[in-house]
Amino acid sequence: MSEVKANSRARLVYDPAELDYNFGPEHPMQPGRINALIDLLETCGLWRSTGEDSRLPLRAATIEELSLAHTSDYIAAVQTLSTPGSSKAESDERQLLAIKYGFADGDTPALPRMHDVCAHIAGGSLVALSAVMGLPAGGAFSSEDARPLHVFHPGGGLHHAWAERASGFCVYNDISVAIANVLRASEAKILYIDFDAHHGDGVQRAFYDDPRVMTVSLHETGRYLFPGTGDVLELGNGLGHGYSVNVPLEPFTEDDSYTEAIESLLSPLVISFAPDVIVTEHGCDTHAWDPLTHLSLTLRGIQAQITLAHQLAHTYCQGRWVALGGGGYDLYRVVPRAWSMVWAEMSDQALPEHLPDAWVERWRPVWSSVEDQEAAAQQVMGKVPAPTNFPTSFQDRPEDFPAQPRRWSISRANRHTVSLVRHLLVPSSVRQAFPAARSQSPLAGLFDLLHLRGSATPSRSKTLETPAGALLLRDFCPPSLVERLTVDEGLHAFARLPAREHQLLLSIARRPDCALTLAHTPAGRIAGEVTLAPGDEWWEGLENVYEVAIEVSSNWRGFGVGRNLLAFALELDALEDIILYAMGLSWHWDTEGLGLNSYRYRELIAHLFASQGFVEYPTTEPNVKMEPANIFLARVGKRVDQRVVSQFFNHLLSTPNLARL
Ligand SMILES: [Zn+2]
Ligand SMILES: [Zn+2]
Repeated sequence: MSEVKANSRARLVYDPAELDYNFGPEHPMQPGRINALIDLLETCGLWRSTGEDSRLPLRAATIEELSLAHTSDYIAAVQTLSTPGSSKAESDERQLLAIKYGFADGDTPALPRMHDVCAHIAGGSLVALSAVMGLPAGGAFSSEDARPLHVFHPGGGLHHAWAERASGFCVYNDISVAIANVLRASEAKILYIDFDAHHGDGVQRAFYDDPRVMTVSLHETGRYLFPGTGDVLELGNGLGHGYSVNVPLEPFTEDDSYTEAIESLLSPLVISFAPDVIVTEHGCDTHAWDPLTHLSLTLRGIQAQITLAHQLAHTYCQGRWVALGGGGYDLYRVVPRAWSMVWAEMSDQALPEHLPDAWVERWRPVWSSVEDQEAAAQQVMGKVPAPTNFPTSFQDRPEDFPAQPRRWSISRANRHTVSLVRHLLVPSSVRQAFPAARSQSPLAGLFDLLHLRGSATPSRSKTLETPAGALLLRDFCPPSLVERLTVDEGLHAFARLPAREHQLLLSIARRPDCALTLAHTPAGRIAGEVTLAPGDEWWEGLENVYEVAIEVSSNWRGFGVGRNLLAFALELDALEDIILYAMGLSWHWDTEGLGLNSYRYRELIAHLFASQGFVEYPTTEPNVKMEPANIFLARVGKRVDQRVVSQFFNHLLSTPNLARL
């Protein structure tokens, strides 16, 4: 292999001038965190500020460049507020400017030399993105191979600044400036992913109408956190509709739920948007120790976010990736470690297991001086008190992070949010190709084989003669068939209304990991259905567990339709690779008009499924457990691995998920 090693194409943007972005000793954002980061990278030998091959020089953004994302009034106000006023009249005028432009609420106070310092930060991100995109503003390189592919600018990521006002510790929005510069200089499309715990409102606003920029923000829900925006339904405006993506996460979200969310969303979004470059904001205020938010990630979840960003850039954008800093208010214990991970990832270097002693000795005392402040703020946010020591390893120790008591319901709420986002923003073909948080189904391959080859008779069929007339049985019914059929009015136990039942059958037919078997009359009226779908959340973590459901129209009962349809649907050899289960839930039972009580109906279901090799098992599954008349049956395929079988039976009687009740 004569490939250029990726690490020679990764650069870091840093200039000591950025350390002057300092709102004073009482402010939660301290430039010392960047200092500690650079010191950590240098002490570990991961980066050298003097190394021309790993550093990308920074320059201030010009007024003209800042104007791409900010109004000229606002830039003029920032300039005025950057110098001390001398007279009383001047100071009154400055007070008015501060109120008008967002510098008076205490979060983002005006600073001396503020314009100059913030123009440097904006320039850093602009140079970084321009270099990766091969634009003149990124500087000249001797060859295409010498042009950086990945750039990290830890001082950037000031995502709250608006075009016409300062907000949330942010004066100039370096991200918007950098992206706007690419928009005017090229045809490129840009994907911006904001991992900060706070909604990336400033960047979203800047490109809300623009279909060339997709903004994706994963953040703690605005219900309890600044800036309050970032709802799923903020989808973009005009031509930009569908290019603004928001994933509001529950307070106290932990690593596994977070990782599941980013994995089920980001690949399908990247594929459907097809960007030329990815810009990521790695605010690490998502960490459990952060004093300003309620999220509960550890560095494991943050590492997953960084690794995924890197993979997406290589898989879909020819490697073009700019990473930025952002929030992070556990200044010395979290920020230097988290952002070292960004640099190690993009430069293909391994992090040492332990933090260098010399570095710990330099920064532990600095942390001690702010420790009380951070701990008090953390308590206000309702977080589990962080250990009162300074870490000595790069990774977090699991024992320092006790599980959240509401873990299960938090994950469930996040999963619901993610599926809503997928439903609204990811085209269905892409969604099917990337099933959320599930292992690939063995049915999918079978379905593709049967459907996508364009065969005229893709599914099996068979005629069933009954005293009420003939029925056609068909398996793997495609959506095109379901669209042409109608639903018998006696078929409504699952969806309550035949029209909704039709919708339900259509959506099942559209899913590649589900299988739909129907019984319909020659005139096209559906009299019965068998569906196979992956087990729901309760079965999470188990392989190849599928639920079978059956319904026969009340107009077609008593003719053996159920038994024949079920036998037909389950005779495929491929089903020997999976575990099938069925649940009889009394509140779904349509016992009216049958003259049966629910216990008698339970017996009928047990009998019906027993005819296909199902056995009844006791289980703690919450739906089944709710009523004594409910029943759980399962059939384990002949080829299912013994390890999977025992996991399945252990899971049947497991208790941890009962929190759901
Ligand atoms: Zn790379
Ligand atoms: Zn933040």
